Amino acid sequence: MPKLNENYLNLKESYLFSEIGHRVSTYIAANPDKNVIRLGIGDVTLPIGSEIIAELHEGVNALASADTFKGYGPEQGYDFLRNAIVDYYKRNDVLIESDEVFVSDGAKSDTGNITELFAGDNTILIPDPVYPVYVDTNIMNGQNITYLDATEDNDFLPMPDFKLHADIIYICSPNNPTGAAYNKEQLKIWVDYALENDAIILYDSAYECFITDTSLPRSIYAIEGSKKCAIEFCSLSKTAGFTGTRCGYTIVPKSLKFTASTGDVLSLNAMWNRRQTTKFNGVSYIVQKGAAAVFSVEGMAQCKNNIKYYQENARIISEGLARKNIRYFGGINSPYVWFKCPNEMDSWDFFDYLLANAQIVGTPGAGFGKNGQKFFRLTSFGSRESTLEAMERIDILF
Ligand SMILES: *Cc1c(COP(=O)(O)O)cnc(C)c1O
Repeated sequence: MPKLNENYLNLKESYLFSEIGHRVSTYIAANPDKNVIRLGIGDVTLPIGSEIIAELHEGVNALASADTFKGYGPEQGYDFLRNAIVDYYKRNDVLIESDEVFVSDGAKSDTGNITELFAGDNTILIPDPVYPVYVDTNIMNGQNITYLDATEDNDFLPMPDFKLHADIIYICSPNNPTGAAYNKEQLKIWVDYALENDAIILYDSAYECFITDTSLPRSIYAIEGSKKCAIEFCSLSKTAGFTGTRCGYTIVPKSLKFTASTGDVLSLNAMWNRRQTTKFNGVSYIVQKGAAAVFSVEGMAQCKNNIKYYQENARIISEGLARKNIRYFGGINSPYVWFKCPNEMDSWDFFDYLLANAQIVGTPGAGFGKNGQKFFRLTSFGSRESTLEAMERIDILF
């Protein structure tokens, strides 16, 4: 009999979105005539821009003739895409090198897979509430997690305690689910803390494209010293509507080096390269062609148009909540609006209440950690029409 990875026994029973799906389908089966509005799952809805679609087609056409056919590509991504990403960072005043860029099928895989580079006895800081992937992948590896409380008291932006040591720190900014985003001064404190502790920051910037406040950093590498202590994960999912198309990238600076117990100096860039070339065979040429177009001036302009549409939805949601004196967070540099459930309601009770009385599906904060209890997340990824309709229903309900 195989000995199984019993760490899986420590995972929470049901994944957040499957429980939501289950409750919604039960409701719809019992109320088939009701018009349910879904502002729950963090998935985009607008079509991909025409510049990008045209390049995806070009990618397909290349495979149709022998002289342009592509088989296996470089595991790290084609140079044309790695260079396009370097140029994109340069336009945002951040300098990285193309061999620090690793193209992948998305940030979920990479944030999960990165745990393989670390041994089992690290002190790992993960904010609570947070994107569940960081927590679950560390539980799968049997790691002990120290939670960083993100609460109303710290505007959902926890800061380090210099008296406590950590080895690995997860930061997601702008944050899913709270929508909160760190400013440069705050991130500098995290970088200083990481350098002082010889720790590493795993920085998820999947929502950088939603940042409208130009004083906020779009990349951890906008912070001095960060190339010695941070890996950055990014994704075209929310930037370009690639949630189904699948493409992301991870930046692993070559200056990220740590001393092993043997005295050898290990480069995380070399380790990640070894990991990817061993276990990953790259993203399809077609998708990479489309991805490169995302970083062109025209392609990015089209992405920004879609993002503007979502931002207007976020504004409509925020205004609707404000009208009802419901205190909310996020919604400005983020597609998510996070708020306290009215009347101190528990977040799953509020989920059921909102579904039954306004036919709106949101996401219970408790699904993102204990500090999400009594909070709720609405997303701006719905249509304008359904977002307006949802806020009208909330206006009547409260
Ligand atoms: C959506 C999201 C991602 C993107 O994941 P992909 O696998 O690239 O689709 C990454 N991090 C967070 C926090 C997210 O919400």
